[in-house]
Amino acid sequence: MSVRSDGAPALEARGLVKHFPVHRIGQRLRGRGEVVHAVDDVSLILRSGAVTALVGESGSGKSTVARLLAGLYPVTSGTIAIGGATVRATRGRLFREHVRRVQVVFQDPFGSLNPIHTIAYHLQRPLKVHGYAKTRAAARAATVDLLEQVNLTPPEQFLAKFPHELSGGQLQRIAIARALAAKPKVLLADEPVSMLDVSIRLGILNLLAGLVKSLGLAMLYITHDIASARYFATTTLVMYAGRVIEGGPSEELVQRPAHPYTQLLLASAPDPDRAGSDLDLFDAGEPPSLVRPPEGCRFHPRCPHAMDICRTEAPGTTELRPGHWTRCWLYNAGAETSPADS
Ligand code: SF4
Repeated sequence: MSVRSDGAPALEARGLVKHFPVHRIGQRLRGRGEVVHAVDDVSLILRSGAVTALVGESGSGKSTVARLLAGLYPVTSGTIAIGGATVRATRGRLFREHVRRVQVVFQDPFGSLNPIHTIAYHLQRPLKVHGYAKTRAAARAATVDLLEQVNLTPPEQFLAKFPHELSGGQLQRIAIARALAAKPKVLLADEPVSMLDVSIRLGILNLLAGLVKSLGLAMLYITHDIASARYFATTTLVMYAGRVIEGGPSEELVQRPAHPYTQLLLASAPDPDRAGSDLDLFDAGEPPSLVRPPEGCRFHPRCPHAMDICRTEAPGTTELRPGHWTRCWLYNAGAETSPADS
């Protein structure tokens, strides 16, 4: 079930770059001004009422993108606009407003809640910080409402509980409710089900999809699982070694993947309809170092179709079909040449 919408842009990121300085005492890298190229030239638009998936392997830079969008890391360069207004503040009232409007749900529901506080405390704190509950009665009513929104009913049963008394799925619902308490416009869900039992993942994804629809949220769904992106997101972006290398409507991208890395991701994903695949992501080697990323196309050391130009020049963007684009020299002339045919 994909959430469909042609909603207005709620968040727009242009040319995001994030470099982390390398500071490892006693190592030869120290003092040379080297950096980890975690995110390089990433642009995306999150639309109200729609889910955009950001897919890639561990270490591809997906979570760093989420932290940049949420204001948890300062950008090295690039711009972020919310509701059409560019975010410039890194502190003060305007920055707090940015942080309120862009909320994050993290991967680990056990680590994201404080074990010494009750569920009521976790939900009432953001309500009070953002000025949504000025009296005790208003705070309780709003807390009950939040618990109902995430289908934890009857809500009164959860108010006095501590995190250790709840299951992983229930804790992730609390984490989602806490994010909703800030009344955000944008929700960044960073691998929200990957630490949960397989049996409850679908329930959490369905809950998020319902909230996107009912509240008109713009959502970024970060995952390494391209199969769930197809199920859940209207648009899918594929990230490799700090760059987005392919993007398009989720169904189109899964049915007609263009970039060799996307093809490899899909071939490696468990799919009962595609038994007997002979491709494996791990057989294709390791992701590159982001301290010294490969010249040209960063995928070239693992790519079975690499050409001379791939080793020296980064490919530009080629639009294959409306809304579906890739960065790969195989398509540089705009031709729909399949790598399998090349
Ligand atoms: Fe492979 Fe070259 Fe395309 Fe990179 S640009 S994915 S190395 S064919």
